[in-house]
Amino acid sequence: MADPRAQPVSRTGVATPKFVDRDLYRMAETYGTPYFLIDEATLRKKVNEMEHAFSEFKGAFRVAYSVKANFNPSVIKAFCEEGIVFDLTAPSELQFVLRCGGSTENVIYTSITETLSEYEEVLGLGVKKVVVASYNGMLNLAEAAARAGVDVKTMVRVNPEVHVHAELRGSMGHGKFGLQLYGSGQDTASGVLKRVLASPNLIFEGFHFHLGSQIEDPSCYAEAIEKLEAFVLGARKELGHFEVNTLDIGGGLPVAYGKKVPTPKEVGGKIAPQLNSLAESLGRRFTLVAESGRFLTAESTVLVARIVNVKEFADAKYVYVDAGYHVLLDSALLRHEYPVEVIPGGRQALQKTALVGRLCDPLDVFPTSSRSKLGGAEVGKLVVFKDVGAYSIVMNMPFHSQPRPPVLMRSGSGDYRVVRKSQDTTGLFMSEGGDCLHP
Ligand SMILES: *Cc1c(COP(=O)(O)O)cnc(C)c1O
Repeated sequence: MADPRAQPVSRTGVATPKFVDRDLYRMAETYGTPYFLIDEATLRKKVNEMEHAFSEFKGAFRVAYSVKANFNPSVIKAFCEEGIVFDLTAPSELQFVLRCGGSTENVIYTSITETLSEYEEVLGLGVKKVVVASYNGMLNLAEAAARAGVDVKTMVRVNPEVHVHAELRGSMGHGKFGLQLYGSGQDTASGVLKRVLASPNLIFEGFHFHLGSQIEDPSCYAEAIEKLEAFVLGARKELGHFEVNTLDIGGGLPVAYGKKVPTPKEVGGKIAPQLNSLAESLGRRFTLVAESGRFLTAESTVLVARIVNVKEFADAKYVYVDAGYHVLLDSALLRHEYPVEVIPGGRQALQKTALVGRLCDPLDVFPTSSRSKLGGAEVGKLVVFKDVGAYSIVMNMPFHSQPRPPVLMRSGSGDYRVVRKSQDTTGLFMSEGGDCLHP
């Protein structure tokens, strides 16, 4: 279907899928704008890239997908077919994965709420590996496991409190996630570990940490591994010998949103020696797990919007598109800049160009820089926002009575299909309470 003679949309990004302009216009005619378009081949390619990232680590390695980044069933299904692990945080996420053909054998369940009823539900569905991050949560898991009469491989989530240079920090000075590595109270790594080792239904499996998202400097992983090693050696003196079978280093692999960041291979190469020395010092080749949401999904997807108006104001040119932050929330929330390109492009305007959305809110201005290609912006042309596959579709919202846009996918064989239907105004009206008007 792809016409090799047409102009590729992306001439810069290394891994940005090469959708041809003509196909993007054809989809706009068929489905309207805005729409999301996912390239399935890129999803699989990213898994492959991750799978080779830790080749210098002398032990087993598993790639995990953090479903929260994009839970579109067709995306989950592609990852199920790749046979990777799923990092899940809610029973509903587990239901999604199971409905897409996933297996509980490939699930690591890491809850934030850690309630008894939730653990009963997921153990009932067959989950075998759970990460606990509080004393109460661990007791709830032990109780749920006893009631179900099952053994649960239990991992302890620690917060190594290292400094993380990242867009979103999950570790430093933030106690929401994980247990402190020092101290001996109940809610510490050693307090929880001690009790796990003594629980009949909880089989200690290993440790988990998650340092943040879009980590551009991998030295924080090395620092966290070092702290963990000191902790384990100390805990063995105190609690007696225990084995570490799995180490889950969480997510954070960065995406090249128009600029250079370390590749998974570079991150892996940097921390593999330290992981090897950890394995040596612990006397065991543990299984390494790396979880990713952003890296696995971001570059697969573009958001396509149409320019609906252009105006001059003072020295600047304002370009209005029919999208807004209701379909790209982190552009407003985090001032996250996606690579943007007008197609077909033209000469870069001399004056400053502002790309603005359709919402009546001053925050609805898309962050752009000299990396954005806004030349040739005219009414009727399309604007492509690249690398939007992570944490955007899942945050679509109906602000300003905006129905949800459709999500399309180009399959590995090159054909296009709808993987999430667009909502129409009636559908939106009803779901917002229109169906409660006349009971
Ligand atoms: C969100 C999350 C991830 C994924 O993070 P990315 O930055 O998308 O790679 C991994 N592990 C845990 C525990 C998370 O909460």
